[in-house]
Amino acid sequence: MNNWGGGDKEVYAQLKGKAMEAMIDSASGLIPGLKECIEFKDAATPLTHERFTHNTDGATSAWSWNPKKKFYKKTMGVNIETPAKNLYIGSCWAMQIGGVPGALAAAYQCVKKIN
Ligand SMILES: Cc1cc2nc3c(=O)[nH]c(=O)nc-3n(C[C@H](O)[C@H](O)[C@H](O)COP(=O)(O)OP(=O)(O)OC[C@H]3O[C@@H](n4cnc5c(N)ncnc54)[C@H](O)[C@@H]3O)c2cc1C
Repeated sequence: MNNWGGGDKEVYAQLKGKAMEAMIDSASGLIPGLKECIEFKDAATPLTHERFTHNTDGATSAWSWNPKKKFYKKTMGVNIETPAKNLYIGSCWAMQIGGVPGALAAAYQCVKKIN
């Protein structure tokens, strides 16, 4: 797919539409009549995630879920400290696997530290 159209917006829109229809067709196999009930549809691609969240290569959150690719020592640990004074991580990036719980826990730790 040349990374979703290689920067060509028209090709990107076509590929995005194609992927969206493929997913709807697939889900329709399990839920008969689904397709006919859709009133509005949109899709997010790996490039959407990258644009809005800075997660790359189709990742939905933070560093990696692969236990062999460790960024922090503990997979579920919250790490808000940085080498820069008074700069803390209050987001999903404070935890190896990220996610909403990671982001919330990090924000909470930051507030406690600042107070
Ligand atoms: C499809 C998908 C499904 C997911 N499912 C789950 C799930 O089931 N359970 C779960 O726990 N997690 C899930 N996640 C992950 C979870 O959504 C994220 O880990 C979490 O939202 C991260 O929160 P955050 O506050 O760190 O970052 P974000 O929610 O990404 O918030 C960062 C904000 O900063 C803004 N921003 C970025 N750059 C700038 C800038 N330069 N200036 C100003 N603002 C900027 C962004 O627009 C955004 O609003 C999912 C993610 C995706 C994409």
